[in-house]
Amino acid sequence: MLKDFGPRIVKWYDKNKRELPWRNSTNPYKIWLSEIILQQTRVEQGLGYYLKFIRRFPDIYSLAEASQTEVYKMWQGLGYYNRADNLMAAAQTIVRQYKGLFPETPEALIRIQGIGPYTSAAIASIAFGYPKPVVDGNVYRVLSRLFGIETPINTGRAKKEFETLAGNLLQGNPPAAFNQAMMEFGALHCKPVNPDCLHCIFLSECTAGRLGEVARFPVKKKKPGVRKRYFYYLLVEVPGNKSNAFFLKQRDKKDIWKNLYDFPLLECNKRENPAEVLKNPVFEHLIGQTNFNIKSVSNEYRHQLTHQKIHAVFIHLIVNKNTGQLSDNSVFLVDENKLITYPVPRLLERYLQDQKILK
Ligand code: SF4
Repeated sequence: MLKDFGPRIVKWYDKNKRELPWRNSTNPYKIWLSEIILQQTRVEQGLGYYLKFIRRFPDIYSLAEASQTEVYKMWQGLGYYNRADNLMAAAQTIVRQYKGLFPETPEALIRIQGIGPYTSAAIASIAFGYPKPVVDGNVYRVLSRLFGIETPINTGRAKKEFETLAGNLLQGNPPAAFNQAMMEFGALHCKPVNPDCLHCIFLSECTAGRLGEVARFPVKKKKPGVRKRYFYYLLVEVPGNKSNAFFLKQRDKKDIWKNLYDFPLLECNKRENPAEVLKNPVFEHLIGQTNFNIKSVSNEYRHQLTHQKIHAVFIHLIVNKNTGQLSDNSVFLVDENKLITYPVPRLLERYLQDQKILK
């Protein structure tokens, strides 16, 4: 075990930490909100969202009363919308079942929707000083390099091994400062690429640093490949007297972007010719007797998700006036000026902004 590890890393933290609005606070609401936003999101990107949320929802009560559409709209661009669902559900649970007060132990916190082992340990230790180690990607990296741990970090047995080690190192140290120091050290100093080993306070004791094998740690088991998906969107524009309107649809299937809004869509197994896509029976049926002109066909837009890569093409049609409706009850017309109020996937937002439809 490294001598005086806790005091040394806490000292490093006091000197080097970033000033962030949720730091130096023991308010569990702020800590929880920042942790949920920062799951799968970089601090630089999440910071603006955090400030926006805190301004609009300064406490758990205001968030518990928010509508899904408003929260989704504020969340737009962050992705992984299940986190927004969890925020709302957890806020309502804490207000109703816990009288607006966060429980103080990891065991109680983990029963709340969206609060897993990592987040429960973060809230309990940072807000309430509970002695539980927080093990995120940064901590895995720091510990695996320091101790030369070969266990692949994306396996079940790694979780236990790293938690035990972090728990032993935490003993006798202030939990809030220690946990934040570990994460910050990984984020700023022992970075995934080009860690600053030369100026590291642990260089003489660090296994990977001494052996020059930093790039080998943490060890990861290979994951299955990324699934490619080909989306063909039909953007149907209906001219109006003052402004035009578009057909929109809410996604409700058990698929990505659940509950967000997008356009009528055809998914193909491979890249297709857009002219052929329009002749597909699904689109032919949808368009029915409607007369239209093709305004444009976009280049392919790509969007990377964790296990999927979306390739999307937008076929923009202008409907000739009074030629009928789309034959799909789940689509509805939205005035172009109101489009901005609907939460849409980032991919659609990019296209609509490029076309100056969303201003
Ligand atoms: S010596 Fe390098 S690899 Fe080891 S803890 Fe320091 S920065 Fe990380």
